Amino acid sequence: MKAGERPETERTAAHDDKGIETVRNDAHGHDRAAISLSTPVQYVKGVGPARARTFAQLGVETVGDLLEYYPRDWIFAPSPVKVVQLRPNETASIIALVESTDYQNYRRPPLFEAMVSDDTETCRVVWFHGGYLRNQLQPGQVVMLSGKVTLFKHQLQMTNPKFMVLDEAHAQPDLYFSGGVYPASAHLSSAQIKRIIVPLLERLDDLVCEFYDEGFRKKNHLIGRKEAFAWIHMPPDEEKLAQARRRLKYDELFLMQLGLALRRYRIQHFSSAVACTCSDEVDSRIRRRFPFLLTEDQNECIAEIVADMGRTEPMNRLLQGDVGSGKTVVALYAALLAVANKTQVAIMAPTEILASQHFISMERYLKNSHVRRVLITGGLTGGKRTELLEQIKRGEIDIVVGTVALLQKDIGFHRLGLAVIDEQHKFGVHQRADLRKDAAPHCLVMTATPIPRTLAMTAFGDLDVSILRHAPPGRGAVITRWVDPAHRQEAYDFIRERLKAKRQAYFVYPRIAAVEETGKDIRAATEAWEELAEKVFPEFHVALLHGQMSSADKQRIMTEFRKGRIDALVSTVVIEVGVDVPNATIMVIEAADRFGLAQLHQLRGRIGRGESKSYCLLFAETDNEVARSRLDVMTRTHDGFEIAEQDLRLRGPGELFSARQHGLPDLKIANILDDSELLVMARQHAFALAARDPMLEEALHHQLRRTLLAKFGDSLGLADIA
Ligand code: ADP
Ligand code: MG
Repeated sequence: MKAGERPETERTAAHDDKGIETVRNDAHGHDRAAISLSTPVQYVKGVGPARARTFAQLGVETVGDLLEYYPRDWIFAPSPVKVVQLRPNETASIIALVESTDYQNYRRPPLFEAMVSDDTETCRVVWFHGGYLRNQLQPGQVVMLSGKVTLFKHQLQMTNPKFMVLDEAHAQPDLYFSGGVYPASAHLSSAQIKRIIVPLLERLDDLVCEFYDEGFRKKNHLIGRKEAFAWIHMPPDEEKLAQARRRLKYDELFLMQLGLALRRYRIQHFSSAVACTCSDEVDSRIRRRFPFLLTEDQNECIAEIVADMGRTEPMNRLLQGDVGSGKTVVALYAALLAVANKTQVAIMAPTEILASQHFISMERYLKNSHVRRVLITGGLTGGKRTELLEQIKRGEIDIVVGTVALLQKDIGFHRLGLAVIDEQHKFGVHQRADLRKDAAPHCLVMTATPIPRTLAMTAFGDLDVSILRHAPPGRGAVITRWVDPAHRQEAYDFIRERLKAKRQAYFVYPRIAAVEETGKDIRAATEAWEELAEKVFPEFHVALLHGQMSSADKQRIMTEFRKGRIDALVSTVVIEVGVDVPNATIMVIEAADRFGLAQLHQLRGRIGRGESKSYCLLFAETDNEVARSRLDVMTRTHDGFEIAEQDLRLRGPGELFSARQHGLPDLKIANILDDSELLVMARQHAFALAARDPMLEEALHHQLRRTLLAKFGDSLGLADIA
């Protein structure tokens, strides 16, 4: 920000007792009395329109956002001394001018060095692995440094100190000397942000209300909400900082869980589904359809579903199970139960391939049955389509299978009893919410992504969960090997032997990351296909399948592959979903280091579906440690839950789980991995509260209600508790 743009009021220091009272933005009529959590940041002292735009880029729109713009770090620094007063082995703070900087990346470890001075002395400062400081520290800056003083070659130096660049504020550095360090942007330094936030802390009495009664707080060691905000930004000491963080983390998790609890309550109590009763006769009639005994896991899940569907409260259940664990069978049971109760069923998948796969596997079980079922595809148009939609509307079709997009668009049901949504790993609260617009069917969401418990509690916090943990019997083992490209020929020879024995193989190429890369990546698969078909396996039928093909072409190739007329299928990740060919026992994943763990696991689930042994060959050459760990995990285990945990550990929850993607606000301070204990506690508390006071009508809960609505009234459809 240019100096000229700075609001005149900014000269007042943050702890100036005139504070925010001196601010009056008359043009907008906002004064002290008008400031609330929802006031746009623009009207906060020291902000104005230009900075408001900068704040917007940081995700800060309102005063409330500003209070929740938590420091990324905190400094507990002793009062500053002069450089000449530094003594070895002490922790000290200085304020000094950066004379020069130097990044020495030839050193091990690489080192960022700065020479700094005040009016008494010069001192060397080093940061190991400090490459990131090249953009942050420049000669001419005045900095505050706080850290350990050491002796190096008879010279005093500071090693890895915390630091803060002091700008205009350095006239009064002590204010900024301790406390929060904020995530800054190119146009807004941490110190500037701090000067804006700290005065707000004087207004906490007006801005922040307590959510919980004192008894509850005492019992659970939660400090007051106002104190928590004051201390998170300006902690008097580490202990109080820890208390502040705990309280704010709890609030964040609690509000999220409360939103989910209320959403769930609303679905259960404001909409009603058809109660589907299950007699012994119906049960055995359904079971007769399956040419095997159901596994214990399947029976358990079915029992839970039957109990749910027997009520008029719509079922809201997640069926979780690894690929091949037998979810389709469970879903079909639920579907036939709905049909037996004279209602219709919609089965939805994310892609057409997957939808048709569902349809085909259903057909296997439904031969000669009177259940009327259709697959709706994008290719279905004209009069045929119109006629079909009419039949569905008249209730002449029992089970409709299609993509989420198709079934949500323009299909009206006569009496929809059950919606089965196979989300694979593309789940989202929004999708589920959309489906419930007009009808209130029972709802069964299936996912093949094993989800660690804490994730399930957040992403699917409003669902009941059933899990298929053990695969049905009679599966051949899957052997996974990480193949160095140097051994490519041997691998090909091995595959040739298998193909000769009439087995089939998949060759998978990396995901298409960016649109402009699309052409490139398809070419990669295309080139590989040409080479495999012409040079490596000329005696076999090798076909190409990729996402850019028309769905008719894709269908045709999949059918050929299923019938064994194609020996090897070269593809991009389109085969990730919905392919069930038990005779395919080989999978080669090229550039396996470019795939995520969850994805590798999904892909591998395509083999090992028959009785004979399967082989998964991961071709990869990489020095990247995380990629190597992923490949190691793959060769070591087949347990989807273990893989999911490892994935979470390797990637962090951020990448695997973005709350926003699920229609929930992102977490700003809590972390579902580290704070799982608080999460469990918040969840129990929230669901109990929602059961007791589902409209948040008690006076004590008004503040919660207001906060909740402001936070995610839209995304969770909580408008009706307003
Ligand atoms: P998912 O949908 O979880 O990937 P499926 O329901 O498609 O799994 O089942 C995978 C395979 O296992 C199918 O070929 C199916 O016929 C078979 N299967 C399912 N349940 C059983 C069972 N109880 N006993 C034997 N085989 C089963
Ligand atoms: Mg399936």
